[in-house]
Amino acid sequence: MTLCPYCGANVERNPGEVVLTCPYCGTAFTVEGGEVGEHLMGRINYSVQQVFENFKSWALRMPETPNDFLEKALFKSYEVRFYPFWVFVFQARVSYAGGYEDLTLPVHVPGHTSMLGTPLEKLRPTLGGKVFYSHRYVVNAGAKLVNPDVGPEDAEKKAVEQAGEMALESLSIRFGGRARLRVESLAVSERKLVHHPVIHATYTYSGREYKFMADASDSRILYAEIPVEAKFRAAAAAGGLASLGLALASLLAARDAPMFAATSLLGFLVVAGVSLSKAFAPTAVVTKSFAS
Ligand SMILES: [Zn+2]
Repeated sequence: MTLCPYCGANVERNPGEVVLTCPYCGTAFTVEGGEVGEHLMGRINYSVQQVFENFKSWALRMPETPNDFLEKALFKSYEVRFYPFWVFVFQARVSYAGGYEDLTLPVHVPGHTSMLGTPLEKLRPTLGGKVFYSHRYVVNAGAKLVNPDVGPEDAEKKAVEQAGEMALESLSIRFGGRARLRVESLAVSERKLVHHPVIHATYTYSGREYKFMADASDSRILYAEIPVEAKFRAAAAAGGLASLGLALASLLAARDAPMFAATSLLGFLVVAGVSLSKAFAPTAVVTKSFAS
């Protein structure tokens, strides 16, 4: 138990958590009792049913998706989790021969290490539309709050690195590379803790279970597993076998034109490999962010 520095309530602490949120007054504070600054949240603007309908019509646009997906994909379960992001705004000055440029750079750092290596790492919730954090809102939505295990100081160290990179990157095209650019100064002008709502859902298709993740604020699909139609897999298998056949043919032709044969052999083997891997994968996994 840790005491809330604002209202004095006892706040439960789970292993690894370095920033806690008081369930009574909503204040976020470090376990040492330090302030974290403004604590904001994204609102849930879409119901899970709306998100599931969006997801299904989006999935149908992919050629692999079975035609009966709309009727046969059945919603199973979901959970809404509010994930923490440290959002910084940097003021940077980059100099070049004969002048300098001032930049304002927003930088996002995932607040929990479990977000790394997942689509959440690439999520950049904007500050637009964010409201002050309300724990009652989270509870009423039946959602789960993820407390940061990355504290504000560690987040800032990561953010400084990213901001420096961004500053150079944003000017490198205009100046033909980074060689003549130098970051003169980098200062944090804002730091906010933002909890952003994400829907984790499961659905079934033909008795198998699949997962998807969506942004509950704007309904974007962040991650999706989609069944692949049997017909499509058969076609991929046939394509793969045909490429293998061509690879064999180019091997036989090798005696006459060795260079040509070697490059085409490689090409056919690559195509065969890709097609066959599609043929044997029953699930298409999509992890990129897409507009829905
Ligand atoms: Zn409190």
